[in-house]
Amino acid sequence: MIDTLSVGGKAAAATGGSAAFWEQVREVGSCWIWEGSQRRRYGRFRDLAAHRYAYEHIRSEIPPGLELDHLCETPLCVNPWHLEPVTSAENIRRRSVNQTHCKHGHPLSGDNLYVWRGKMRVCRTCNRARVAEYAARKAGGR
Ligand SMILES: [Zn+2]
Ligand SMILES: [Zn+2]
Repeated sequence: MIDTLSVGGKAAAATGGSAAFWEQVREVGSCWIWEGSQRRRYGRFRDLAAHRYAYEHIRSEIPPGLELDHLCETPLCVNPWHLEPVTSAENIRRRSVNQTHCKHGHPLSGDNLYVWRGKMRVCRTCNRARVAEYAARKAGGR
């Protein structure tokens, strides 16, 4: 499924896109990890998500309305052969199926699991914390 052997690694791919982009990418195993600036969990290059930039310059345009799913589960990876355009709903579904723990390490099972709209798996502990934080902010006047 994940196939970088046929593409010759980052050096071969670096003919697409700007040199300033590739200077900020480090090969780690088969992943190409973005070491530049970040926004949320993803790399940023100029005004674009770094992984989208890589995909569009090396492989092809991303069809309108689609998101790139990281097959390698590494948000900072910009290897376009680790990326696959999917619909937003499909992306959420895939994430949910694979997750056994939330990003803070709480188990997504038993009492702690809340299934939202029958498909999105939500951590109750984190959800409670988010709600409490929101309430505190509101109480503080902002
Ligand atoms: Zn990767
Ligand atoms: Zn959690």
